[in-house]
Amino acid sequence: MQLADAIRTIPDHPKPGIMFRDITTLLGDARAFRRAVDELVQPWAGSKIDKVAGIEARGFIVGGAVAHQLSAGFVPIRKKGKLPHDTVSVAYSLEYGLDEIEIHRDAIAPGEKVILVDDLIATGGTALGAVELIRRLGGEVVAACFIIDLPDLGGAARLGDAGVPVRTLVSFS
Ligand code: 5GP
Repeated sequence: MQLADAIRTIPDHPKPGIMFRDITTLLGDARAFRRAVDELVQPWAGSKIDKVAGIEARGFIVGGAVAHQLSAGFVPIRKKGKLPHDTVSVAYSLEYGLDEIEIHRDAIAPGEKVILVDDLIATGGTALGAVELIRRLGGEVVAACFIIDLPDLGGAARLGDAGVPVRTLVSFS
């Protein structure tokens, strides 16, 4: 079984010209979901990771499973205005305009080792914003993990330039 075969591609979603990589089919396939999580965490099996930070919304699903597997805590990084307590926020650029993500100010203690998780990395804008939030709280970003990489969009390379080791499982060009 290839993980790539468990991912569904939806042409022209959410707008014409975009090939949307839909992981709901992978999540719904028990063997594929387990395998994806096992492969993502494999380099850190037995290491002490304090927190897994997941990016809204699909990063919550994958990140929650990764946190459980690593016996780490889970920290949500959410779109602006969703988190109920004191937050730190960062604006990041999208294809058109800006967006903002937030983390609870007390979610990560200085020196904690953090793995960042999302389902997919494209331009890397979202993940770089998340890295900035974790670092502002004093966390050490040990790595960033994604099921899917779109290497033509350069995000994984950008994260590498920012000093973050990147782990991805499936690439679509
Ligand atoms: P980036 O900030 O790297 O350009 O975009 C990555 C973010 O957009 C991730 O949070 C990811 O969930 C979402 N995203 C962009 N394109 C796709 C796609 O084709 N499939 C899925 N599942 N998510 C996408």
